[in-house]
Amino acid sequence: MKIPLLDLKAQYATIRDEVMQAVSEVLESQVCILGPKVEELEKKVAALSACKYAVGMSSGTDALLAALMALNIGTGDEVITTPFTFFATAGCVARVGATPVFVDIDPGTFNINPALIEAAITPQTKAIIPVHLFGQMCDMDPIMEIANRHNIPVIEDAAQAISATYKGRRAGSIGAIGCFSFFPSKNLGGAGDGGMCVTNDAVLHEQLLLMRSHGSKPKYYHKVVGGNFRLDPLQAAVLLVKLPHLDEWSAARRRNAALYDEAFAGSPVVTPHISPDCVSIFNQYSIRVQNRDAVRKALTDANVGTEIYYPVPMHLQECFAGKHRAVGSLAQSEKAANEVLALPIYPELTAEQIAFAAQTVKDAVRQAQPV
Ligand SMILES: *Cc1c(COP(=O)(O)O)cnc(C)c1O
Repeated sequence: MKIPLLDLKAQYATIRDEVMQAVSEVLESQVCILGPKVEELEKKVAALSACKYAVGMSSGTDALLAALMALNIGTGDEVITTPFTFFATAGCVARVGATPVFVDIDPGTFNINPALIEAAITPQTKAIIPVHLFGQMCDMDPIMEIANRHNIPVIEDAAQAISATYKGRRAGSIGAIGCFSFFPSKNLGGAGDGGMCVTNDAVLHEQLLLMRSHGSKPKYYHKVVGGNFRLDPLQAAVLLVKLPHLDEWSAARRRNAALYDEAFAGSPVVTPHISPDCVSIFNQYSIRVQNRDAVRKALTDANVGTEIYYPVPMHLQECFAGKHRAVGSLAQSEKAANEVLALPIYPELTAEQIAFAAQTVKDAVRQAQPV
């Protein structure tokens, strides 16, 4: 049984005609930059995320970059974040000239450990970026309490967590700015790159709009130095077709996660821990196993797709190694990097496919264990 990590064609087959129609509408209109599709998507994502404003961006990376720029973060500033994330989180901090300060994770949720944040704060700390990894939001109450007490803005990296909730509150609605990615492999993925910032702050909304179009207002009068971070209307058109399905797709991922959880019960496989405060959208389903690389190879041989998110924590990346302050030993991030393995979790998987993937994992774990 061949089971890819992700099968985008299965999903596309269910919405093909609508996507073609929506894309054709944009082409016929020849509104090729921003315009009504982008505005409609912004309104809908703002509403979904319980935020007043949304600004469509060219990618999740550019959403993070624009958020940092909107908050005027730059040279000499420090930004606290997790080392266990996709590179963009830390890369954007470095790109604005600031210094990422890495704080270790909670081994259960893989998210930044709020208890370690305060020790990392200095007078230079200008932002905290919690990353809602794998579709589960961070423990936001303690993070916001510390941030508010020190008057430090929070940027939620919600690239993997659109529509997820923490104590009933939506991803992106708790910090100063929330950032989403529409990379094709995300729960709400476009037909190419795309992203969005959300906020409840009118001033930050203005700043994000400025940053998105070279800092100009009106056109050709540049108040600040921004960039071209605009969301493509063709992407917005595709995303508008997909958005109404997001809840049903995320529910299917949760159902698949429950099937895996059940299949792994009583085995040495450590399943993802979801906090009772959170509803995850399971952008990934990452187990922990000893002898991870051997298990992964067995799955590859059995035609079951897997991925390692992420094999190298940020403080050990060549571009950052030794250059930035790492608070605590970051041992949990390093351990996670050695043990995690993401299994296929996409909505269209059948129960049979999940049973097969889970059995293959269990067999491989047993075989890979020292006798
Ligand atoms: C995907 C992702 C990003 C970047 O989004 P792109 O749209 O690929 O630029 C940033 N942070 C995290 C945690 C991500 O998973």
